Amino acid sequence: MSAYLQCISCPSKFRVDEILYHCTRCGDLLDVKYDGPAPDPRNLKLTFQNRKLSPTPEDQSGVWRFRDLFPFLGSMTYVVSLREGNTPLWNSPRVAKRAGLQQLTVKHLGMNPTGSFKDYGMTTAISQAKALGMQTVLCASTGNTAASMAAYAARAGMKGVVLIPQGQIALGKLAQAIDYGARVAQIDGSFDEAMLLVDELAREGQAYLLNSLNPFRLEGQKAIVMELLEQRGWRPPDRIILPGGNLGNCSAFGKALKELHEMKFINPLPRLTVVQAEGANPFARLVHQKASALQPLQASTLATAIQIGNPVSWKKARRALEWTQGDVIDVSEKEIADARALLAQDGIGCEPASAASAAGLLKLSNERRLKASDDIVLILTGHQLKDPEYIVKYHAGDLSHEGKHIASQFRNVIHSVPAEAGAIRKLIS
Ligand SMILES: *Cc1c(COP(=O)(O)O)cnc(C)c1O
Ligand SMILES: [Zn+2]
Repeated sequence: MSAYLQCISCPSKFRVDEILYHCTRCGDLLDVKYDGPAPDPRNLKLTFQNRKLSPTPEDQSGVWRFRDLFPFLGSMTYVVSLREGNTPLWNSPRVAKRAGLQQLTVKHLGMNPTGSFKDYGMTTAISQAKALGMQTVLCASTGNTAASMAAYAARAGMKGVVLIPQGQIALGKLAQAIDYGARVAQIDGSFDEAMLLVDELAREGQAYLLNSLNPFRLEGQKAIVMELLEQRGWRPPDRIILPGGNLGNCSAFGKALKELHEMKFINPLPRLTVVQAEGANPFARLVHQKASALQPLQASTLATAIQIGNPVSWKKARRALEWTQGDVIDVSEKEIADARALLAQDGIGCEPASAASAAGLLKLSNERRLKASDDIVLILTGHQLKDPEYIVKYHAGDLSHEGKHIASQFRNVIHSVPAEAGAIRKLIS
């Protein structure tokens, strides 16, 4: 198999060892594509399974175990891995019941080395950076990309430089980025402004860009879908619901599903449902208004990981919805907050942006768009401890957005009691 870069809009092709993020002819995004004979699904499924018994880092990784389906790296010696992936599937009876479903599956990508799904794509993109001989890597981030890139840059012995919007990033993520030794620049602007800046700097060639417009990120994120399907015995669900911010993950899921379907790994294709916050919903507007181009907006949501008004991958995401007959919905701050707390009642903790998928499920249910027998997978994207301030405020009843109070439906208050056994006894009973 040989790999190349293909423009998504025009026939231009480029070599994978060129440092490129956009087509040099038309400026659009690039896909990684492969030539060569199609693999045999039965054999490969067995190979993937057998690798679980192998002790090598690339076989233990939940990403590189599937490397035959993204064979762009010339040699495994370039692999930088933290044994990412291998994330669990759980059921969520409370959320299932509320959505009127017989059962519901949750895949928690927050159970990764740095606590978010970004690790799936960071391992592939940083390994490509190593193959290219890059010494400095760069990203703009709402937090989790920064945390992930900082960790992988540290492992690779590269310098990491991250741009984050000041005051709009959750504490856990900021702590990770500085702790892993990245050079952290807080800018007095939004994520979208940071994104424009790093795009400009990357074109000058001093640093390798690790945002999801880097197509090698999306190749690694395809492994989320492969792992999910393998965990289900390669039985596709009816629908996969995931939050959408910059829309890289939706794009990667769409590409993975289309490729797996074409190579006869699965049939039929599950539908993708993307969920955005109402205050950061440019993709929902685009699709619902059947507009020809995305209209950027000023994004505002407490789910900071998806606070993005000008998502770079909207064309790839729109294509993913076409391929899978998917859809996109938006949900309110209150719907996100309560859905997050409801998941926690099943022992499933996640950060606010992740809970958009659960809020989206409940909205579909309210709109009577689900059948009780539907086989649905909710994607949770980030760990509960990324944003503890949000959680404490929710349970204290102190959550507000743009000056408006958000009533907490599933509050669990902290009891202030005197240090006396009697008071505790009362609490127990
Ligand atoms: C990055 C991120 C998202 C958004 O993913 P995109 O690929 O940008 O759409 C959602 N949730 C969490 C926790 C994230 O870190
Ligand atoms: Zn082009």
